[in-house]
Amino acid sequence: MPPTPLTAELQALDAAHYLHPFTDHQALAAKGARVITHGEGIYVWDSEGQRLLDAMSGLWCVNVGYGRRELADAAHAQMLKLPYYNSFFQTTHEPAVRLAARLAELAPPVAGRRFEHVFYSSSGSEANDTNLRLVRRYWDLLEQPQRKTVISRRNAYHGSTVAAASLSGMGAMHAQGDLPIPGIVHIEQPHFLQHGLAGESEHDFGLRAARWLEAKILELGPERVAAFIGEPVQGAGGVIIPPDSYWPEVQRIVDRYGILLISDEVICAFGRLGHWFAYEKFGLRPDLVTFAKGVTSGYVPLGGTLVGPRVAQVLIERGGEFNHGYTYSGHPVACAVALANLDLLEREDLPGRVRLDTGPYLAQRLAELEAHPLVGRVQSCGFVAALTLVRDKARGLPFPEEQAVGMRCRAHCFGGGLVMRAVGDRMIIAPPLITTRAQIDEMLGLIERALDATLAELRAKGWF
Ligand code: PMP
Repeated sequence: MPPTPLTAELQALDAAHYLHPFTDHQALAAKGARVITHGEGIYVWDSEGQRLLDAMSGLWCVNVGYGRRELADAAHAQMLKLPYYNSFFQTTHEPAVRLAARLAELAPPVAGRRFEHVFYSSSGSEANDTNLRLVRRYWDLLEQPQRKTVISRRNAYHGSTVAAASLSGMGAMHAQGDLPIPGIVHIEQPHFLQHGLAGESEHDFGLRAARWLEAKILELGPERVAAFIGEPVQGAGGVIIPPDSYWPEVQRIVDRYGILLISDEVICAFGRLGHWFAYEKFGLRPDLVTFAKGVTSGYVPLGGTLVGPRVAQVLIERGGEFNHGYTYSGHPVACAVALANLDLLEREDLPGRVRLDTGPYLAQRLAELEAHPLVGRVQSCGFVAALTLVRDKARGLPFPEEQAVGMRCRAHCFGGGLVMRAVGDRMIIAPPLITTRAQIDEMLGLIERALDATLAELRAKGWF
């Protein structure tokens, strides 16, 4: 069927004018983008009238689901009252203050001490730029300016600005633009399926992977290392859930050498893993926590950093201007929407529901998919999960990369009314936290249908 006139018009204008993020612009212009028109609950609709169950929460962010009037009302009221004001020149405003105080209250204390301070940005990338500035400022103030290097991990995702892309460990991003910038180095990720040795337990692998950090610190010289940054669960890298032994050992190592720990919780916070913050789940004691996405459920852009007492104390007590900030740091409309969003998360106890009810149910239902001929390992943690598609289950053999099996599966998902992401041959979900048990059943039915359609396609091609 030809597209409707509205679809055709928007696709033509899109191809003519709109350079999409992380996109092959030539290929998309030839194909035509899918036009999403509206959303309600866990569903979005496209301009052809197809309903899609959005198992990716937009881009890991629409935690409270689409169409929440409370958030629109909060934005509307704040826009009428004070749509914008800055906090550069010794001024402030109520939404930014109330949100900072609310986040300080929500964030669980670390070793008995609270996160009392927040620095705002408009995105996760900007927040990680802030972190790089903050850790270097911290060590400068402590008269250890040689402590500049930040250690990150390969296949990490920390954003797409020059500093955040450098902190990220994505080879394809680094290849475009001479990244990383100096002072950022990477160790290998704790990805058992990729780096575990024959006969090695996940526990032992977790310890070995954490000790790559210690080896790198010793190689650089501990006196030159400023911080270590990591996502508690790697998201964009393919939902890589580290073994339980990994984070406690990382914590031991950063403590031993006195280096700062940054927990990048842009995906993992605000209930995604069944806790308000993921450092609580993993028993981490970070000095800085990056947040974005779920703080507003993506309704308006907002990001920031929770600044723990170790860094805040030095910054405040030593004084001197921190020459950093954004026009939209603490944007009043974004902060008002965040407050309304936190109200919803709290009132509906979405973190608790994911931790105690729907998260375990999702894990149980997903585990059943390991019986499917195409599915190797299924891994999940709260409301993020990954299914690995394999050519040979018994031996865990992957498909050849050029067969692009993950992308084929993703196309069958879309065709069948389900948004699922492919990272190589890992099929990823991160559903809205409001998803009910009945909707999890519906989602599983759609996943199974997409897997069956992928299997039929591969068999027809003689690849399976
Ligand atoms: N950190 C993590 C862990 C992320 O997942 C992302 C975005 N997916 C970012 C940072 C960057 O956030 P943004 O796209 O808002 O700049």
